[in-house]
Amino acid sequence: MGSVRRDVKSKFIIVTGGVLSGLGKGVAAASIGNLITKSGLKVVPIKCDGYLNVDPGTMNPTEHGEVFVLDDGGEVDMDFGHYERFLGVNCKFSWSLTMGKVYEEVRIKERKGDYLGKTVQMIPHVTDTIKEKFFSIALKEDADVTIIEVGGTVGDIENELFLEACRQMKKDLSPSNVLYVHLTYVPVPGGVHEQKSKPTQQSVALLRERGIEPDIIIGRCQEFLEQGLKKKISIFCGIDENAVISGVDVDSVYKIPIYFSNEGINEIIRSRLSIGSGVKPTWKKLVDNLDNLDGEVTIAICGKYTKLEDSYASILEAMKHCSANLKVKIEVKMVDTTDVKTQADVAGVLKGVDGVIVPGGFGTRGIEGKIQVIQYCREKNIPFLGICYGLQLSIVEFARNVCGLAGASTTEAHAGTPHPVIDILPEQKKVTDMGGTMRLGAYPAMMKKGTKIWELYDKNVEVWERHRHRYEVNPDYHEKLLSNGMIFSGMSPDGKLVEFIELPAEKHRCFVATQGHPELKSRFEKPGPLFFGLVKECMRKEKE
Ligand code: GLN
Repeated sequence: MGSVRRDVKSKFIIVTGGVLSGLGKGVAAASIGNLITKSGLKVVPIKCDGYLNVDPGTMNPTEHGEVFVLDDGGEVDMDFGHYERFLGVNCKFSWSLTMGKVYEEVRIKERKGDYLGKTVQMIPHVTDTIKEKFFSIALKEDADVTIIEVGGTVGDIENELFLEACRQMKKDLSPSNVLYVHLTYVPVPGGVHEQKSKPTQQSVALLRERGIEPDIIIGRCQEFLEQGLKKKISIFCGIDENAVISGVDVDSVYKIPIYFSNEGINEIIRSRLSIGSGVKPTWKKLVDNLDNLDGEVTIAICGKYTKLEDSYASILEAMKHCSANLKVKIEVKMVDTTDVKTQADVAGVLKGVDGVIVPGGFGTRGIEGKIQVIQYCREKNIPFLGICYGLQLSIVEFARNVCGLAGASTTEAHAGTPHPVIDILPEQKKVTDMGGTMRLGAYPAMMKKGTKIWELYDKNVEVWERHRHRYEVNPDYHEKLLSNGMIFSGMSPDGKLVEFIELPAEKHRCFVATQGHPELKSRFEKPGPLFFGLVKECMRKEKE
């Protein structure tokens, strides 16, 4: 490569981080993108990770938080959740670029003889492969702006080649098409109570050693950066004072685009890249709502990973989306179902709770407790939403307590159950043998007209949600469940798989569940319909 890429019309914003990890680089990158979408430009995010796993789907979710699933079935890290929510795009698996993926490609090319007897080297062969990925994604997606987030912090060995590729971008494109943003940390040590610029200076020095001059520095800090500090950073780091932006701690990430905007980031983006950006009025209105909430509802999330809030990150976001759109404060109560054994236990843990979510999950621990919770919600007319495992266990509860199928269960937890109402379907068993074990990605459901869920989904006949599961409602029991009053509100197009269920309106205020994961597509500007329906119902006065 090395020649100028005139075919790539996209502008590139490259976001790096320094000093510490966990400063919110993903949210910062997504917020910048959010401001740019105001101009109607198409923004495509790429996330670079230095680890050697080919994809993040193979990494332990308890270490990395929720596994985010894309439409195309890609399992990616939680940052893609921010991108989708802030940019309004449906991301693709190929936009998650790991060093494992890059090396694999280089190695395959080498074996095929693509390098024509050359010594295959980190530079240029690996860096060219990285850049080729950036360019080909931008071209294929017809992006106006491509945001590249380089994982980790500057100085990490595993990210050096990504940084080198990013440095070269400025040569390959014209300088007016590339903008470098560096996120650092500005501590305010106790005692002296003074904002300190040294970590930023050192981090920028490391970046400059790699040939990258930042255009914008975002200083993450517990307070707004003082003008004196901005000046100091400006002198030591060789950038304009007004290009030093406060990355102040906020109570809601959805406020960040507004804060960046108030700090003048749009002017810099315009002067450097000649593109417009700003806060979308609809976004601003929702953020204002967050500061003017009226009333309160309490929603319990009853699961087993309750200690790790990140495991349910997207559900918690969906709650915030509902909060902003319905202008109601939502208190989320995490309930660990492992110790819930009886209806009396449920009454105890659900005291003061207006609505219940039983989220997705795997394995045996905590499931009898979840079934107890579901029974309680069904019998006591408490608004309920079951997600994935939550739907499956609602079916188990209904089979046991309404259909009279004693011992009914899912074969995931009880292989020898007399009534396997939830099971792996025969065609999927074959797939299991081949190793690709889960139903992943977006699938359509054909909706049953007149149902509550059909109404919540704006009366669409076809609804797509994302999936991540192995088991299904066993077709051998469909008839039994239906004849006892369960409603299948949405089915796969071939009519075999149950995608949405609900109880009839005359039996329950709001008892809905889905085999999909609607939290993954919930957006600030358009909350997931089932969450919206649940919260709205909780806001109504208890019927009865
Ligand atoms: N464990 C269940 C299955 O594999 C549900 C999975 C989930 O809730 N994501 O089908």
